[in-house]
Amino acid sequence: MAEYDYDLFTIGAGSGGVAASRRAGSYGARVAICEADRVGGTCVLRGCVPKKLLVYASHLRDELVDAAGYGWTIGEATLDWAKLVAAKDAELDRLNGIYLRMLASSGVEVIPGRGTIIDPHTVEVRGRRYSTKRILVATGGWPHVPEIPGADLGITSNEALSLTKVPESILIVGGGYIAVEFAGIFAGAGAKVTLLVRGYGVMRDFDDDVHAALAEELTRRGIEIRTHTDIESVERSGDGVVVMCRGGIEHEAETLLWATGRWPNTRGLGLEDVGVATDDRGAIVVDEWSHTSVHGIFAIGDATNRINLTPVAIADGRALAETLFNDTPTQIDHEGVPTAVFSQPQVATVGLTEKVARSRYPHVVVYRTHFRPMKNILPGRQERTMMKLVVDHDSDRVLGVHMVGPDAAEIIQGFAVALKCGATKKQFDATVGIHPSSAEEFVTMVQPAG
Ligand code: NDP
Repeated sequence: MAEYDYDLFTIGAGSGGVAASRRAGSYGARVAICEADRVGGTCVLRGCVPKKLLVYASHLRDELVDAAGYGWTIGEATLDWAKLVAAKDAELDRLNGIYLRMLASSGVEVIPGRGTIIDPHTVEVRGRRYSTKRILVATGGWPHVPEIPGADLGITSNEALSLTKVPESILIVGGGYIAVEFAGIFAGAGAKVTLLVRGYGVMRDFDDDVHAALAEELTRRGIEIRTHTDIESVERSGDGVVVMCRGGIEHEAETLLWATGRWPNTRGLGLEDVGVATDDRGAIVVDEWSHTSVHGIFAIGDATNRINLTPVAIADGRALAETLFNDTPTQIDHEGVPTAVFSQPQVATVGLTEKVARSRYPHVVVYRTHFRPMKNILPGRQERTMMKLVVDHDSDRVLGVHMVGPDAAEIIQGFAVALKCGATKKQFDATVGIHPSSAEEFVTMVQPAG
């Protein structure tokens, strides 16, 4: 008889946990996965997927407006938000079904309920204990709301994805991914949007030219960006809210959205009791093999102290399964991970910002271009694209590729491969462009900007 009920017990059926479990199952491991909510996790149910569907919907406003420049006459267009949300929810149901079927076909047993670690070989779900050789924690993250009086009058991205109507006005606190993505969604859907940012600007971890270009375009779209905002309290005001800031400044709107970061979902898992080390935000500390401080307990995804991106969680999950169940020790390189922000316009980036590059390399050269994409000319749209290369002059290696503009995510994915291969500026120059496209600018930049 087997020593344990399972070879791997995964807590959390989001993208990372599902990927690891399925890969382990495909190698014949006996795998169980428990999930307190529906199978799918943040990306499928509360993040990437529903968010992008809403981004598509709100961006269609631009297409409808611009169509006139191309000779189209389009009658009055209105957005039926409730219909959109229902269609989005139907798609999430479909994806949830696919996830369940994929788990079943990989031989992974799904156990509904919240898991608690009792000891390094025991997980309890709904009062029942399961023994396992190894445990994988893949419980993801959860929106973090600052502890400010009246904070509960606001919503988070979880609720923002399913509002019953578009608010007339919305205050969004934060200047990161979720803040700018939802700013675009609600502005496109017709709301008056104000971003309340505590620092000096949006996306401030990104390259300076990226956050400057994005701020300019968000402003051009009528999104108000209030920087250096220090919120002290929130109160109800009629059907809406009023946000009180230091200096007696007040902001009022129908809806308040906290986009103030996501924190690891690691409370109540029993981690402290078994000695799994976490940092001050509760993120599980792991090594390059996704191993926690306790032998036999592993962790991946947003529950860990690694980059919080779905493809990273999936890659780490699959690597773990390769290591444990296919005799193929595999580590994921967390350098040079490309990322995109589905703001309007999009942001995408791979590699180093100019600031970080200058701190690591003595001679950095920068190439930069700003232009109005061809598609914007006939409709008279003023929105501009920004593209930038950061190059190490001594080795000629391209260290960073940054873009703000339409299709940035699609374009940067390919350049991420080039950077992974250590591409040089000369190799960029030797690559023939695709004309007419925006992407060709990346291989035709001649004059350094600095
Ligand atoms: P981010 O970390 O991107 O941004 C958080 C923002 O909130 C920052 O502007 C931060 O300011 C601000 N903030 C934090 N605490 C407070 C506070 N107490 N008061 C006021 N402002 C505050 O977090 P998000 O919530 O936008 O997203 C979480 C993570 O999810 C992202 O980092 C990313 O990893 C992932 N994600 C990825 C997406 C994608 O790939 N397209 C989309 C959405 C999320 P400051 O800069 O001063 O710290």
